[in-house]
Amino acid sequence: MRSYDIALIPGDGIGKEVVEAAMPVLRKAAGQNGFTLKETVYPWSCNGYLETGRMMPEDGVEQLRRHDSILLGAVGWPDRVPDSVSLHGLLLPIRKAFDLYVNMRPHRLLPGVTGPLRATDFDILCIRENTEGEYSGAGGRVHVGTPAEVAVETSIFTRRGVERVLRYGFEQARRRRGKLASVTKSNAQKHSMVFWDEVTEALSAEYPDVEVTRYHVDAIAARMITHPGSLDVVVASNLFGDILTDIGAAIQGGLGFAASANVNPSGGVPSMFEPVHGSAPDIAGRGLSNPIATIWSGALMFEHLGEAAAAKAIMAAVETVAGAPERLTPDCGGSANTQEVAEAIASELQGCQ
Ligand code: ATP
Ligand code: MG
Repeated sequence: MRSYDIALIPGDGIGKEVVEAAMPVLRKAAGQNGFTLKETVYPWSCNGYLETGRMMPEDGVEQLRRHDSILLGAVGWPDRVPDSVSLHGLLLPIRKAFDLYVNMRPHRLLPGVTGPLRATDFDILCIRENTEGEYSGAGGRVHVGTPAEVAVETSIFTRRGVERVLRYGFEQARRRRGKLASVTKSNAQKHSMVFWDEVTEALSAEYPDVEVTRYHVDAIAARMITHPGSLDVVVASNLFGDILTDIGAAIQGGLGFAASANVNPSGGVPSMFEPVHGSAPDIAGRGLSNPIATIWSGALMFEHLGEAAAAKAIMAAVETVAGAPERLTPDCGGSANTQEVAEAIASELQGCQ
């Protein structure tokens, strides 16, 4: 039987709850589709940091390397450990070590879920560049504390970096509805964004079957609200993608539904799947967290591993449960707890046998 070696990093706060709730769903979908999961739990978290001074062991990345995929809950506890420590001690080193240059987030309103928009029919796949651009960290400050102070933050866009993320977008568009939106601000940023446009143009010659539209980031931000159904695949830089995917999460009904994948499409290293939300200390430990974002992230993981049938079965079960809002957690107006939502989804999986 096919088997996949999965690293689980439940993390902090509701991260632990949503991973615990999601795993039985994923195991069951795997079993029904002819494969098994070999799970290894890594208890790396802010609690661990407070005890050991490290978010993960020195050889943490090497421990993860042998796995087929990583499923992460949420890492962070802002009151006790600065975000910069939790981010730089765990998430960023993993993304960097495995060169997870695609950050992919599906934004789709599940049937029955009430979002904030009048439009309900949309299915957008946002692809954010995950390694360079505006978050390269290049820059500095001079004349600190004086009236002459200057702070510079330099965006770095490389041909390799831009080309590979756009290519991934073209490939996804080809598998979906054949439309790609390339996001820039090339009317105002005349070096990097004009370059991004040029790379888009050059690649589009290789994908004549994909319809490309170039949007300025401000215009597409508005379009995601006014005409979300007109968009298919959206590819954007690190900063622009960061902002647009928050809009995406909002219009799909909130963080409880927002799933994500950090992917290195060339394979050979584990990609990492995680709900977009953080550890949410305000609701942790009370059974209030919505496990759907994590279960959906698990479906993205199965898809990435080549187990499309299992991914599809999970999403069908999620849709059935989402269609009865009273079976959901309070963030969606329901009265069920985290476990109950996951159990409902698992029991709907049975119907697919
Ligand atoms: P972190 O610093 O780890 O990002 P946070 O306090 O910023 O944690 P988030 O997880 O980013 O919290 O989410 C913001 C708020 O949204 C939470 O405080 C919580 O109320 C709500 N929320 C987030 N995720 C979920 C979820 N899965 N189910 C229900 N509510 C959620
Ligand atoms: Mg947060």
